Amino acid sequence: MPRRGVAHVRGGIGQIAAHLVEAVRAHGGQALMRQRVTSVERRPDGAWLIRTHRKGEFIADDALFNLPPWDAGRLMADDAPDSLRRAQRPADGWGAFMVYVGLDGGALSLDTPLHNQVLLRQPFGEGNSVFLSLSLPDDPARGPEGHRALTISTHTDLRSWWSLFESDRPAYEARKAEYTERVLAAAEIALPGLRSAARLILPGTPVTFQRYTARSLGWVGGYPQTSLFRAWGPRVAPGVWLVGDSIFPGQSILATALGGARVASAVIAKTTASSPRAAALPQRLRARPSVIE
Ligand SMILES: Cc1cc2nc3c(=O)[nH]c(=O)nc-3n(C[C@H](O)[C@H](O)[C@H](O)COP(=O)(O)OP(=O)(O)OC[C@H]3O[C@@H](n4cnc5c(N)ncnc54)[C@H](O)[C@@H]3O)c2cc1C
Repeated sequence: MPRRGVAHVRGGIGQIAAHLVEAVRAHGGQALMRQRVTSVERRPDGAWLIRTHRKGEFIADDALFNLPPWDAGRLMADDAPDSLRRAQRPADGWGAFMVYVGLDGGALSLDTPLHNQVLLRQPFGEGNSVFLSLSLPDDPARGPEGHRALTISTHTDLRSWWSLFESDRPAYEARKAEYTERVLAAAEIALPGLRSAARLILPGTPVTFQRYTARSLGWVGGYPQTSLFRAWGPRVAPGVWLVGDSIFPGQSILATALGGARVASAVIAKTTASSPRAAALPQRLRARPSVIE
């Protein structure tokens, strides 16, 4: 990233997922939407039985979890390997408070930088520092004509949101409104006139993150990068793999893509060597597993 700089995905970050889905389907795979995995059980023959909330059932030689280790362990319940059963969220982990803004594009000049950081005071996070990412001026997928999308984020402690959410809902809502104002005020330093140009303002707390990503408590960011050895290795037990920001090299789209490609190569290489299911793989993947890198 330091060498190549920050990149912006036209159409929004979901386009990456959309392209991956296309690739999976083009290679004869299935991608199912809005279907949450509810359990992963070991069958007597050693394969995995994966159930979804829509009563889907799938048999697999290998199960790959795109989840933090403790959430993966919860899905496996009694069949979870010890390491997943013992896994705990790190005490120094973070959540994110977000404000999603739909803006009147006329309020911004076309050369406004797309990425900004505002660092107001230490300690950073909790609205004392915010990151801003603005959609391209000519990207019709990000908003109605003449409008632009802005996402603003700040790191935030998880527990305080959850204790208010669970014990005092009005105080939770009040804190959300206060953080929204704090974050918008900080963002306005980089984008003067932001609040008067805003046509839509949607805040999101760690509670929101849990709802949309199924990460318990809305934990984000992977293991804080205080040591190279904190992240998990991808192979947890025979036929059980992790991908995503809990495994090396950690968080970011680039890092999770790199980790995922390494896991895919390893699974394909293993599958090619051992399983009759390998016959279903396209020839080029069987012959050269590293092709997907
Ligand atoms: C505020 C914020 C800003 C960021 N900005 C950037 C940035 O600018 N650039 C960058 O590179 N990175 C950024 N990141 C980091 C990046 O978003 C993460 O590193 C990345 O999303 C982690 O990917 P993942 O696949 O591990 O997890 P996720 O993105 O959480 O993906 C896991 C997926 O699995 C699905 N899922 C969960 N449980 C189940 C289940 N039981 N059944 C079916 N599906 C399930 C979830 O719905 C989710 O779609 C940012 C992160 C945050 C929080």
